[in-house]
Amino acid sequence: MTAESTGSGSGSKGTIRVVQLYPRDMNIYGDWGNALVVRQRLKWHGYTPELLEYNVGDEFPEDVDILLGGGGQDSGQLVIQDDLQSRADLLTGLAEDGAPMLLICGLYQLFGKFFKTRSGPVIPGVGILDVETHGTDERLIGNVKVLTEEFGEVLGYENHSGQTTLGSGVRPLGTVAKGTGNNSSDGHEGARYRNIVASYLHGSLLPKNPAISDFLIRTAAERKYGAFIPGTPDDHYAVLAREHAARRPR
Ligand code: GLN
Repeated sequence: MTAESTGSGSGSKGTIRVVQLYPRDMNIYGDWGNALVVRQRLKWHGYTPELLEYNVGDEFPEDVDILLGGGGQDSGQLVIQDDLQSRADLLTGLAEDGAPMLLICGLYQLFGKFFKTRSGPVIPGVGILDVETHGTDERLIGNVKVLTEEFGEVLGYENHSGQTTLGSGVRPLGTVAKGTGNNSSDGHEGARYRNIVASYLHGSLLPKNPAISDFLIRTAAERKYGAFIPGTPDDHYAVLAREHAARRPR
């Protein structure tokens, strides 16, 4: 586990501890950018970010305020599967207690019931999300636009062979307006449960979608300090990134 704390804390509205799950094995298509955005926006909002990494075999950090999980190759998912199972109770407790989490692609799949890979092995999930994933021969690749009620238009990039079906215990993050999303049949993207946002979108997701970042931050601050006092984030680059992404062809 590595730790990085930024800011003196003097005049800070409080510390928020952000943990990225398995960055060594689950961190593709720039997913680490999500951690950088949360760290920067915490600073802009006047909080002191503490950024930790949790990898296979590490001691799990205490007092986690925000959890971030990235995507990975099937091979990376196989590497982390046993360690992830050993953390299933802890992660379930955090999720049920309302801890905010962002789970992208490979870890979205493994927070569900299982991922049956294209090549055969079934990787068990921790079952926090009522979803299941089946690998297919079709790779879903390209730019995605999702219409959501909570976060407006969400933009990102997908690349996965697994197709995810939602059960009645979760709701979709949104409806796909461009790209594919969870699977090639129902037009839904991602999943929402408690304070978990799960999505197939890389890119990374948060630089272009600061509303999701601020949801994680607001929820963490309310949970830890009873209230969220917003600061004044600089959205200049988020606006540029969104304009650029919106112009991308499929
Ligand atoms: N290996 C998984 C799949 O192909 C997840 C991919 C990803 O995280 N981008 O479906």
